[in-house]
Order: sequence, then C-alpha cells, then structure tokens
Amino acid sequence: MAKITLENLAHSYMPFPKSDADFALKEINHVWDDGGAYALLGPSGCGKTTLLNIISGLLVPSKGNILFNEQNVTQLQPQHRDIAQVFQFPVIYDTMTVAENLAFPLVNRKVAKSEIDQRVSEMLEILELGSKANSKARGLTADEKQKISLGRGLVRHDVNAILFDEPLTVIDPHMKWQLRTKLKELHRQFEHTMIYVTHDQTEALTFADKVVVMYEGEVVQIGTPEELFDEPAHTFVGYFIGSPGMNVLTADLQKNQAKLGSHVIELGKSYPDLDGTIELGIRPEFVSLGNDPLGVPVQVTAVEDIGRYKIVRTQLEGQALDAVIPEGQSVPAEPRAILDKSRINIYRDSHLVREGV
Ligand code: ADP
Ligand code: MG
Repeated sequence: MAKITLENLAHSYMPFPKSDADFALKEINHVWDDGGAYALLGPSGCGKTTLLNIISGLLVPSKGNILFNEQNVTQLQPQHRDIAQVFQFPVIYDTMTVAENLAFPLVNRKVAKSEIDQRVSEMLEILELGSKANSKARGLTADEKQKISLGRGLVRHDVNAILFDEPLTVIDPHMKWQLRTKLKELHRQFEHTMIYVTHDQTEALTFADKVVVMYEGEVVQIGTPEELFDEPAHTFVGYFIGSPGMNVLTADLQKNQAKLGSHVIELGKSYPDLDGTIELGIRPEFVSLGNDPLGVPVQVTAVEDIGRYKIVRTQLEGQALDAVIPEGQSVPAEPRAILDKSRINIYRDSHLVREGV
C-alpha cells in the first residue's frame, strides 16, 4: 500500500502544447493518503481517465512527477507499479474459467497454491459467482464478466492502490448498489488506497471518504461529501452536486448586501473589499417560500412533486431560483423567498470567496 503524491503534474496529448487549453489535465498537486477511499468525480471528458492512467503508468505525464511513498515512479512501467486497475468494460480471458480468471493475477505473482485457492473462493463468494466457478468466462453475461474484472482487481492484497475507472457502467442498477456496498466493505477490511472514477454523484458520495471533483481538466475541489455540499469551492461543484444543484445568482455586492435588480438580500457576512459583481450561491434546501414581507418576490414557473418533498422552480428578477419545500406545504400564489443567510456562499469569477467578516 502506498501514499501517492502528484507533484506539479500536468498532461497534454499534444506534442507541443501552447496554452492551458491544450492540456487535458491542468497542473495538479495532491497527496492521496495511504488507505484512503477516494472518488474522482466529474463530467465526461474532464480528464478523469487521463489522471488514472498516469497513476497506473499507462500514460507518462508531459509535466511533473508521481511518487509512491517517497519513490519517484513517473517513468516506471505499469507492471512494476503494483497497481490493480479495473476498467469500464470487462478485461478477462474468455477461454479460462471464472476461477482461473480470478486466480490469474496471483498465479502470475507465484503466490502459493493454497493461498490462491483460498482467495479465489473468498472472491467467488463476495461476487456471488460460486455456482459459475468452473464455467468458461465466454458464456457469461456482461454483468458477470464485469464482476470478474472487479474480482481480478480485488484479489491481490499486495497492491499499492486499486483504481476503478467507471467500473459499474455495464452493471444493472440493483447490482450496482450491491457491488458498491461490497467495495466499501472490502475497503474497510483491507484498507487499500482506492480511487474510484465516476461521473455519478451518488456513486461518488456513497463510496468515498474524500471526493476529488474535476472540471475541464482541473481539480476544482477536494473534500468530504459534507464539505462539497456546504461550501462548494467552485460554482460548478455547487450545481454538479446536489439535486437540484445550487442556485447561482448574479448580484451586485456592497458590504453585507447583495442587490438583485431592485431587491436587496442581506448577507450573514460583510465583504468590505469586494464591491461589484459577484455570484450568490444558495442551495434549494435553504430557500423557503411564504408570505414574509421581508422576503423577495418571485414568480413560480413549475412545481415538481418528488414524493417526500417538492421542487419549486421560480424566477427572481429574471434569474432562476429553485426551492425545495416539504411535501405538505403549499406555495402561495405570489410567494416571497427567504434565503437562509448562514447558507449563502459568495463567488467571484466562479470561485468561492472565503474572506467575509
Ligand atoms: P474522462 O475520463 O473524464 O471522460 P478523459 O481523460 O478520457 O476524460 O479525456 C480528457 C480529454 O482528453 C478529453 O478532451 C479527451 O478528448 C482527450 N483525450 C483523451 N484521450 C486522448 C488521446 N488518447 N488522445 C488525444 N486526446 C485524448
Ligand atoms: Mg473516462
């Protein structure tokens, strides 16, 4: 197992990158703690696979270094890194049986036969593939094949880290949940450093202790699920995480007041050094609708009943403002919105401003 350090790491697929935009992965400095469970979350094309392949050694970065513990492995071939990587689609041997596929990474490393047998039967049980142990992999369903791929990643105990690149894409939703739970259990049991790539916030938030959010080749925030919810460091994190995402309203800031057209929203903090245009972020959970004359008038455009709560879509001076309200609560015809002061975050150029007083 290892602590993994990324030092001024960046990657461009172009031979002569000129500007920032030519980098699929912009400069990143980060330490993945030994034994941590991480999710790498971001939309398609933001650079997740690029980063993962640099860690496993499939890709040599154009800039910077990667260290396992204190050893520089930047130029080291994948087979010398002791990394297990599970890909989006199954990588297995069709002509081998399920058990032989699972045993393969251990046989390769000359692990004793008795230990191989024990690990393989453990893995068969975890993956609920016991009844298929002696079937050839060729005849299995896509789900089952992907489970074997997962098993091949998890069967070794001597790895520096296990990397998962959207491994549950081809798995049906119920099984997905089961496997994710299993992965979490295995993490608790063996304390491997695990990095789990996904574009699905539910997957990221349920699997990881720490979530690394990427956007357009950049790591925009690293935090616990709570931190990402309460204090998104970038407006992108605000609306990518949460359902619906955080409201972002353009406003004019003057000390402790945000002006939206003719309306003023009082803030919990004052920003004496930050006059001018800002973005005000507030999650729909912290917007309430009622008749309070202190609220700002909004126009309701839609109400979506989600079961335990309702999402109310409104417009405030022409800008979208969503509110989440309890199931039984009715919405007045001409509601006024109250924004919970303590839950307002202020952004400038999409980045969170922390220096309010
Ligand atoms: P993700 O895994 O988050 O979907 P990728 O790391 O695969 O993102 O891709 C990041 C960016 O790099 C994308 O713009 C993609 O088109 C580009 N890219 C990925 N692989 C290659 C490659 N082999 N050659 C050139 N460009 C690539
Ligand atoms: Mg990818």
